[in-house]
Amino acid sequence: PSLEDFLLSAIRTIPDYPKPGILFRDITTLLGNARAFRRAVDELVHPYAGLKIDKVAGVEARGFILGGAMAHQLSSGFVPIRKKGKLPHDIVRVAYSLEYGVDEMEMHRDAIRAGERVILVDDLIATGGTAEGAVKLLQQMGANIIAACFVIDLPDLGGRSKLEALGVEVNTLIS
Ligand code: IMP
Repeated sequence: PSLEDFLLSAIRTIPDYPKPGILFRDITTLLGNARAFRRAVDELVHPYAGLKIDKVAGVEARGFILGGAMAHQLSSGFVPIRKKGKLPHDIVRVAYSLEYGVDEMEMHRDAIRAGERVILVDDLIATGGTAEGAVKLLQQMGANIIAACFVIDLPDLGGRSKLEALGVEVNTLIS
């Protein structure tokens, strides 16, 4: 099978979760599958092989799992972007839009220095609201965002175009 079909076969789709009418893409089955997890991380880092990447920034919570593995492969540091109230030191905060309403995410103020080369990662991009919030946080810190990457893109929801309109390169494995 193609890489996309192989990875897709490792992802579980759950109807009506968390609400009726929503098809939830559950990547825990991919994470639990040794070959699929390795392949997904290899493909996520592939575009940056040989580049100097200072930090991988992962969005809570599944972005932590992917981002930790990516940072190890790229010999870079890892930075958590967290839901509000979880980080113990001085933070920068941004509000971002969800399907219904808004929320806030935070990063440690000293996690990234101006000019550092950063890759953003999350498991999935839908409307792009979450990733856009993360991009704004990173930009506030003066990060040089090399790209944002996701295992899954739901292209009908427009997230990729939203990030590209901000000048961010987007790489995804499954559409
Ligand atoms: P967005 O902000 O609309 O792009 O939604 C993306 C965020 O919601 C990411 O942090 C995803 O982890 C999460 N998300 C949305 N839909 C799904 C899904 O079907 N499976 C897993 N995560 C999802």
